[in-house]
Amino acid sequence: MIEFHKNWLHRSYLVIKDKYKEIDSLDQQIGDGDHGSTILRGLDKVVNNFENIDINNEVDFMSEVSRLMRISMGGASGILMTIFIKESTNLNINNIHKSVLNIFSSTIEKIKKRGKVNIGDKSILDIYYPLHVKINNEDDFLIDEIFSSIDSSLQNTKNMEAKVGRAKFLDTKGVGVIDPGAFSTSIILKEFFREIFNEKNN
Ligand SMILES: [Mg+2]
Repeated sequence: MIEFHKNWLHRSYLVIKDKYKEIDSLDQQIGDGDHGSTILRGLDKVVNNFENIDINNEVDFMSEVSRLMRISMGGASGILMTIFIKESTNLNINNIHKSVLNIFSSTIEKIKKRGKVNIGDKSILDIYYPLHVKINNEDDFLIDEIFSSIDSSLQNTKNMEAKVGRAKFLDTKGVGVIDPGAFSTSIILKEFFREIFNEKNN
């Protein structure tokens, strides 16, 4: 399963590399302007160093990956965005539905606790939470449905008033701008599910 994680993160890295300027420009409107570059730096740090991480155990490997990413990104986003990366080692390809639900519920709890953030505050939680609800309500999931759920959750962050981060201090509370962290999270989650479907169809 280490290969699963490598493929997933590598794909995420390529998509973020393509979109980081777009993410930075969202962050320039409601944050400190560098979220796209920050997540790109974190992914670059791990993806281009996989061969130097001399660990064969999946859990320890991903724990090291998330540590390197967290340090390289720094700040709150480094802490919050690597929670899912670490939790993802609980994926069981023979029991995808249940293991994905468990990964999501513990990710959500940890983000709430460490980020002191709630659903609807305009944050990465507004991607994880609705997707968790959706998966929980269905016996199986289709990639198109997952992707459209992620897309609509991302669009929903646009009209949310920020209750966390710098955006909450703006007169506009960030209304009218998609949350940059939610944007990068949407990319990472889409690539995670894409890799699950690749794995399933192999
Ligand atoms: Mg920043």
